[in-house]
Amino acid sequence: MRKKLLAANWKMYKTQEQTANFFREFIPMAAAHTRDEIVICPPFVDLQTAVNAASGSHVAVGAQNLHWEKEGAFTGEISAGMLTSIHVTHVIIGHSERRQYFNETDDTVNRKLEVALENGLTPILCVGEVLEEREAGLTEDVLRRQCVRAFNGISAKKAAKLTVAYEPVWAIGTGKTATPQMAVDAHLVIRHEAEEAFGEDFAQSLRILYGGSVKPDNASALMSEREIDGALVGGASLDPISFTKIMNY
Ligand code: PEP
Repeated sequence: MRKKLLAANWKMYKTQEQTANFFREFIPMAAAHTRDEIVICPPFVDLQTAVNAASGSHVAVGAQNLHWEKEGAFTGEISAGMLTSIHVTHVIIGHSERRQYFNETDDTVNRKLEVALENGLTPILCVGEVLEEREAGLTEDVLRRQCVRAFNGISAKKAAKLTVAYEPVWAIGTGKTATPQMAVDAHLVIRHEAEEAFGEDFAQSLRILYGGSVKPDNASALMSEREIDGALVGGASLDPISFTKIMNY
């Protein structure tokens, strides 16, 4: 049985003060929750505040991005080593907003994934199709391409901590959610690609999250699917009560 992972992607929301306030409210509500793994991914400047606030709880803290180099003249970038040095344990890689607005490619996603794994971070690799691709019947092709290229050159041993999030781009921040069946179908494609790349045992233990307008009122239907191993939640994770309701699906 795969333990579900519920991850909050705060995107570019919340100051340090707002982060501390969230954790003050959220940690007591999450204290007894051991059924699922919980990770909060705030903006870089809030990571230390989040790590301090989550210390002593089982809530983990993740970043939303990283650079593949260890250090160097890369203005504005953050390395894997910088994240682990402050006890960040997870990192979102290849979110569609980064692919769409910051020119992330399958190749840079692959490099980021490799470096995250090398540094012991748990990567949450995002894949998903845009609306035109779904309407053109290309969803499977897109997922296959994104997975094949992201996994390229990575061994099963190295990939042990890999987590994938299926995020149909048309469902992110739009209020439109994939039906549980649409998510299951996509997850099966991703699991198949993981099997091709890393073997059957690996694929069976790989966690594949769903992301795209997950809310308190649709979380139960999605999470009750055996194939859906958790959720990556954007907008509805900003409020501690709303995220707690999702956590208690
Ligand atoms: C996301 O940012 O990964 C996401 C799924 O956002 P939302 O839940 O707001 O659709």
